[in-house]
Amino acid sequence: MKNNCIFCAIAEGEIPSFKIYEDEMCLAYLDINPFSKGHTLVIPKAHSEGLLDTPCETLAELVKRVKKVASHIKATLNADGFNILQNNGEAAGQTVKHIHFHIVPRYGMNEISFESSKGDMYELKALAERLRIA
Ligand code: AMP
Ligand code: ZN
Repeated sequence: MKNNCIFCAIAEGEIPSFKIYEDEMCLAYLDINPFSKGHTLVIPKAHSEGLLDTPCETLAELVKRVKKVASHIKATLNADGFNILQNNGEAAGQTVKHIHFHIVPRYGMNEISFESSKGDMYELKALAERLRIA
């Protein structure tokens, strides 16, 4: 596995993911321990660890994809809003050292827990099919 990095392995197709969007520079897939229905991660295919070591050009392109994917998720799942999270360093809760933006859809005024809990693989598969952007 390149860089010993699970998200690089996902980007290279070595490890399966519940992919909903892919283009030449980025990939978006469902988080397997979702905070809410449709919780998605957007990553650049090129490895970097966090915000500070990622080139500004990559960040600019990535944020365009975050916007596109968030807009699609919000419309498809009828979400009322969404949180964008991006953790840097263990102290901030970063567990995977490949930069990623979380898109966490919100429904009504429902409180959610920002603690991971294991998702149902069948539900995630069906949701990824529903959310896939051609
Ligand atoms: P962070 O705490 O910001 O580093 O978030 C890492 C996220 O990656 C967590 O929410 C994990 O549930 C998620 N995650 C870890 N492995 C996978 C995987 N194989 N597929 C999808 N999401 C993953
Ligand atoms: Zn990586």
